[in-house]
Amino acid sequence: MVRIGFEIHVQLKTKSKLFCTCPTNFLDVEPNTNVCPVCTAQPGSKPNGINEEVIRKAVLVALALNCKIRTEPIRFMRKHYFYPDLPSNYQRTSEPFAVDGELAGVRIREIHIEEDPGRYELRDGTVDYNRSGVPLIEIVTEPDMTSVEEARDFLKHLRAVLDYLDVILYPQIGFRVDANVSIEGGERVEVKNINSIHGVVRALKYEIARHKRMLAMGKKITRETRHWDEVRGVTVSLREKETAEDYRYMPDPDIPPYHIDPALVEQLRAQMPELPHQKKDRLVSEYGIDESAAWTFVLDKGLGDLFESLADRVGVKNATAFCLNLRGELNYRNKYLSDIQKPERLESLADLYFSGKITKPVYVDYLRKVLDDPTFVPKAQELLSEDEIRAIAREIIAANPDAVADYRNGEKKALNFLVGQIVAKTKGKADPKKAIQILRGELNR
Ligand SMILES: [Zn+2]
Repeated sequence: MVRIGFEIHVQLKTKSKLFCTCPTNFLDVEPNTNVCPVCTAQPGSKPNGINEEVIRKAVLVALALNCKIRTEPIRFMRKHYFYPDLPSNYQRTSEPFAVDGELAGVRIREIHIEEDPGRYELRDGTVDYNRSGVPLIEIVTEPDMTSVEEARDFLKHLRAVLDYLDVILYPQIGFRVDANVSIEGGERVEVKNINSIHGVVRALKYEIARHKRMLAMGKKITRETRHWDEVRGVTVSLREKETAEDYRYMPDPDIPPYHIDPALVEQLRAQMPELPHQKKDRLVSEYGIDESAAWTFVLDKGLGDLFESLADRVGVKNATAFCLNLRGELNYRNKYLSDIQKPERLESLADLYFSGKITKPVYVDYLRKVLDDPTFVPKAQELLSEDEIRAIAREIIAANPDAVADYRNGEKKALNFLVGQIVAKTKGKADPKKAIQILRGELNR
């Protein structure tokens, strides 16, 4: 029996940092420009009051995950460790402000607020403090997942909820995951700092296989923390300890305990946007699509929005086929629709295809180009006229006497072969439906 639990860190989309007014857009500016004495822990500096926008976004997430919001005052603790990315030598982390939630059958144990440290570049020994003090929430689940597939589905659902709430600071970064995994007869191992859902799936598969191998060889699995090496696709032992490190937790004397206002909680509950499971129900009842397609669409917010926009323009059946195909191509690339630049190109592609201005092979080709080349713009092709197709059909017939004979002897497959020849020869400029009609006419003459 496998048991998997997660600690998920999400950088919250707020204008300013948790305890100062520096902007949070650490990726978009020169190193060490979003800094002040507070977030670089200069001697004598004191934190501002807690950023209310952080509280609102954090409570919104907690409510969407069906948590109870704690009404008692929440203290901020100092968690001590020594590393160049942490100028104060302690990270501020709140007591849980939300507990006892649930998403997709997985219990949420607690959520708390933290500040992100800076970014230490090991290779050249430099530190960028732009990220220092950026607000994070850490979502802690119970170890309720019993397979890699369940774990992946949970993370996809969680990611969708966060996208619907529009609370992720950089969607292209998403969230960072620490995964706890154990199998029957072994101790719990924590794999730290995995930065994509795809990475979590790979790390869990690796770790479960490793545990099974160890137990089969009669070895003991010790309780330890491991690092996920994305490039090599392996986990590496970081520290082998029986107990958790002593971070010398103490309440931060500079931050008064924070009391979440119940009126704010009710106000946020009333403003809750439509969530993935609600949208799934709506797509099923409004458009009559099946549950599994609806889930596929809603778990990628951009794809769900595209489906609705297309359903109104090209019809539900076409929109469903287009979006399922698109999801397959995105899965192949481990991408969300929001990772694609100028996604409106997908709408023009669907319009071109379903209005008959491009043929199927060209649509397939264009779709891949839109996903892989940000500069590619799909345009209507110059389709061949019936006379032009007829001329090529006659050439193909003349060049393939065996296939023609097979067709006349009742072998239906021969027709597909000949149509394929026409499509190849015209490089997709012949509409296959028309090509079949014309070819039949020519063969039966
Ligand atoms: Zn600052």
